[in-house]
Amino acid sequence: MKQFRRIGILTSGGDAPGMNAAYRAAARAALARGIEVYGIYEGYKGLIYDNMTLISKPSDVSNIITKSGTVLYSDRCLEFKTEEGMAKAIETCKKNHIDGIVAIGGDGTFRGATDLSKRGIPTIGIPGTIDNDITATDYTIGFDTAMNTVISMVDRLRDTCESHARCDVVEVMGRWAGHIALRTAIATGASAVAIAEIPFDEAKAIADMKKARENGKRSFIVIVSEGLPGYAEQLAKKIQDQTGIETKFARLAHVQRGGSPSLLDRLTASEMGVAAVDELLKGNSDLVVCKVDDKICTMEIKKALTVDRMFKKKITEEELAALSDEDKAWMTARCDKVLAGMQRLYAIAEEIK
Ligand code: ADP
Repeated sequence: MKQFRRIGILTSGGDAPGMNAAYRAAARAALARGIEVYGIYEGYKGLIYDNMTLISKPSDVSNIITKSGTVLYSDRCLEFKTEEGMAKAIETCKKNHIDGIVAIGGDGTFRGATDLSKRGIPTIGIPGTIDNDITATDYTIGFDTAMNTVISMVDRLRDTCESHARCDVVEVMGRWAGHIALRTAIATGASAVAIAEIPFDEAKAIADMKKARENGKRSFIVIVSEGLPGYAEQLAKKIQDQTGIETKFARLAHVQRGGSPSLLDRLTASEMGVAAVDELLKGNSDLVVCKVDDKICTMEIKKALTVDRMFKKKITEEELAALSDEDKAWMTARCDKVLAGMQRLYAIAEEIK
């Protein structure tokens, strides 16, 4: 089996609270197993331009578990997608004796991880994205902290809505996914939630709010996922026009990416960081670390990306036809399970609004 002397760790794509905790865990797990670590700056860009720092002792990653953002910085490096960029990245790995890589990020990052694995640099992905939109795993690092940020912001909006008998329509993050919206709607006592995955009965939502106002309800919160681009603003206008309730629109945007990571994010990041190093040392490559039913496991990146496209309805007929019956059955079941989980939460949100 391959002998590991040194591994590289990078964070790439959109940042998420807990990425530092994953970096720290992977670095310390490697050091504990006698392997040196390079912390690679600015995602795949650092691999192309040989921008990295040697981590030779545990204290080199001290006091970062509490920090948000990523101390390794992140980048959306388009050059890495080119043959020249990729060749430079491989050259840097060889020059620095980097025998494997842990890549923390989202689906774009995992595509890069596959490219490196195919070119002889074993790479393991860790899901770090606040959106929780990697269908293969129940949980992605940053999700919990982002939702806690949302509820603390929305609670403040609620205070002022109650004073002024207003409604606030709040757009929350989740580029392709309503997971943040669904959970924070329940947790903030929202009057309605609109996400891309489940049809939204706009007329009923507005009629219910009108009736609630007639019964004396002063303040209203409506949560809309960014997965419905531009809809939150339109809905705010419709609510005001059709109910007479003064209605404001708020986009929480990147504030959701900041803040010190929650316990759940630090813990999951730590578990995943150690698991990623273990997988490399077992001789594995081209995998993403997942958490399913509260257990850490792994999945081939290709399979994880395909089930994701299936869930987001982006899979092509050709891709579907190329799947084995076993994979197709597993992916369909996984998508059904994730959707059923969302439908269950949606029904609760509707019932107790
Ligand atoms: P995320 O990882 O959060 O999904 P991006 O989609 O921006 O974020 O991807 C992060 C980085 O991963 C990109 O900037 C690029 O360097 C690399 N990447 C994305 N897609 C590919 C691809 N198809 N092949 C190789 N590398 C990729």
